[in-house]
Amino acid sequence: MHIAILPGDDIGPEITAAARQVLEVLDEKLALGLRLEQHPMGLATLDSHASTLPREVLDEARAADGVILGPVSTYDYPPVEQGGINPSAHIRIALDLFANIRPSRTRAGVHYVAEDMDLVVVRENTEGFYADRNMLDGSGEFQPSPDMALAIRKISAGACQRIARAAFELASRRDKHVTMVHKANVLKVTDGLFIREVVKVADEFPDVRLDEMLVDAMAARLIREPRIFDVIVTSNMYGDILSDEAAALCGGLGLASALNAGERHAVAQAVHGSAPDIAGRGIANPAALMLSTAMLLDWLASRHDRPILAVAADLLEGSVNATLANPANHPPDLGGKATTQHFAAAVAEHIQSSSQGDHA
Ligand code: NAD
Repeated sequence: MHIAILPGDDIGPEITAAARQVLEVLDEKLALGLRLEQHPMGLATLDSHASTLPREVLDEARAADGVILGPVSTYDYPPVEQGGINPSAHIRIALDLFANIRPSRTRAGVHYVAEDMDLVVVRENTEGFYADRNMLDGSGEFQPSPDMALAIRKISAGACQRIARAAFELASRRDKHVTMVHKANVLKVTDGLFIREVVKVADEFPDVRLDEMLVDAMAARLIREPRIFDVIVTSNMYGDILSDEAAALCGGLGLASALNAGERHAVAQAVHGSAPDIAGRGIANPAALMLSTAMLLDWLASRHDRPILAVAADLLEGSVNATLANPANHPPDLGGKATTQHFAAAVAEHIQSSSQGDHA
């Protein structure tokens, strides 16, 4: 099983090294047969390859069974014509990663605002209000005159159907409850289409309960009663905002994991950015990328029908949780003093000493 590791920028290399370290320990313990290959990209290749995502790196990502992508400093990238390709957006399009799956849950030992929360935002990833991915040619934003700018929001039946199916399939394996989030009282045509397609897909899943909520009401309800939600399905921009809100309610960005998944490819990628303010100090929290890596292992287990990878995913998530349960292991973003390396070593030790998977 070939995993391509793309380290990203700023704290990216620090946290991908930590994720790799625990993956190697898992591989050795459970004989997963992983082949981990790292490929420089981002600002590291801008001078040498005149691109932040050289073509051969994209080819490696496409050829791999799974990808681990570190956060990228897109804010510092030059324009596309000068090689500043946003690897995150570009890979999502090239590998058709239509589902951005973002879980948020409370974890023992971590200070949280919302008690007893365990939900997943399933966010459409390929269209919506995102100017870099909703046009065949050119940008979805343009400026006809100095004092006027326009943005296009694309919602298509096919994209709504497949994100709805991803949400219902996930809910079938969880608490069998999907909440579709929209703003159809204002965006009657586009969000009306979204609702129509989600409801159609719901018919295929009679065991899963579907309800709906306007996005503004959802933003408030998430704070008041997060425990009532299981799977939330929504379009690109709403999902981006709601998942950050959900992450903040249960420990912050340092724990916010995500998987970008399509039919054939999946990329583990933390929700957070490249944190230039703490880069190079060895204090970044690697938990979000480790938990994203666990999601990738779980996806690979289903896709390749290899249950041992699901065992590995459980062991990795369990080991991150066990590490977080002791505040002495908390990095500064969680109020502690632990380094990235300390956290990685604690997770690795827990994996090694666990009896889970011994007879798998
Ligand atoms: P950010 O997520 O990088 O940082 C926001 C705050 O959270 C900072 O204080 C940072 O120190 C902290 N933080 C984030 N991740 C952390 C971690 N793992 N451990 C500890 N603290 C962490 O957001 P930003 O500052 O708005 O953006 C910085 C750069 O990241 C920009 O270039 C932006 O374009 C890019 N970005 C990339 C991605 C991505 O690669 N998917 C996502 C968002 C932003």
